[in-house]
Amino acid sequence: MKYLDEYRDPAAARAYAAAIRKITTKPWTIMEVCGGQTHAIVRFGIEDLLPEEINLVHGPGCPVCVTPVEIVDKAIAIAAMPDAIFCSFGDMLRVPGTEKDLLSVRAAGGDVRIVYSPLDAVEVARKNPGKQVVFFAVGFETTAPANAMAVHMAKTENLKNFSVLVSHVLVPPAMESILSSPQNKVRGFLAAGHVCTVMGTAAYAPIVQKYKVPVVVTGFEPLDILQGLYMCIRQLEEGRAEVENQYSRAVREDGNLPAQELLGKVFRVIPRKWRGIGEISESGWGLTEAYAAFDAENRFDVAGASRAEPTECISGLVLLGQKKPAQCPAFGKTCTPEHPLGATMVSGEGACAAYYRYRKTEAA
Ligand code: SF4
Repeated sequence: MKYLDEYRDPAAARAYAAAIRKITTKPWTIMEVCGGQTHAIVRFGIEDLLPEEINLVHGPGCPVCVTPVEIVDKAIAIAAMPDAIFCSFGDMLRVPGTEKDLLSVRAAGGDVRIVYSPLDAVEVARKNPGKQVVFFAVGFETTAPANAMAVHMAKTENLKNFSVLVSHVLVPPAMESILSSPQNKVRGFLAAGHVCTVMGTAAYAPIVQKYKVPVVVTGFEPLDILQGLYMCIRQLEEGRAEVENQYSRAVREDGNLPAQELLGKVFRVIPRKWRGIGEISESGWGLTEAYAAFDAENRFDVAGASRAEPTECISGLVLLGQKKPAQCPAFGKTCTPEHPLGATMVSGEGACAAYYRYRKTEAA
């Protein structure tokens, strides 16, 4: 296939759904890890095509959603400094910290800029030598290479006024955390295709072996997701647990080796706190010693408050695949995208926001 529309062909989608119905004999709970896949599943009504035995649950793959409030508070404190220019992708500006968000800092006169690449932030630093320029480096393995490149360029150019506020998280440790929970119901995963374009598929082999769950690396269009589900269900029905690659048009087994080499230089694995879930050991990246001078947390003495999610919010259970958004009593009532109470409503890629946007209100 060549064009995007071909991956959304209704007749082909119905054919995949029929093939899934034909091979399904038992109930299976399958988790898609990525927020982009969640969005596509809800938007295109994929669950409605599936047999009732198949339960799709939505994983912690929305990077904006899982960025902890403490880090957002630190971003807000840095952005409010008089000599700072704070650069970020646009989706972080509305994420609420303890008292406000980055958008309100900008409304109050702070120099908060939306950029489309961390390299744009490096350029802002070059053009503003009298200002401290900070980039909000948030996301999974997918966004990390460009952020690593920005830090590496700043070091190479000896740019003294550029730093990054890092909140990078990693997919495999989150999957292990889900699988090791006593309440876990997930029997198979659709892994995020774009993460694997960078990291390859090898990282999932130990998970498959240890937990005996199929992992199918999957793309983001409706036919990708239906094919990924078919491959996952076929493994489950046949009693197999393997890593399979549905997204072969973009993903190689060894991934992007030059990107991985750069990541290994710039980042090291550290524990990270995930909003809605809590700390997961060895689940994130921080800067290595060689690049520590570009760490905004070292450069600025700013504190982040630690705030618990409101008690009515069940986003932790949603992120772990144990509940669906519409099972939350606050969904669509006290919690909306305009006034999010928890992690999975703060970004359009979050499961609660996707359900709200496409009006999927039934408690499945
Ligand atoms: S609807 Fe809001 S309060 Fe409920 S789980 Fe989702 S984010 Fe939390």
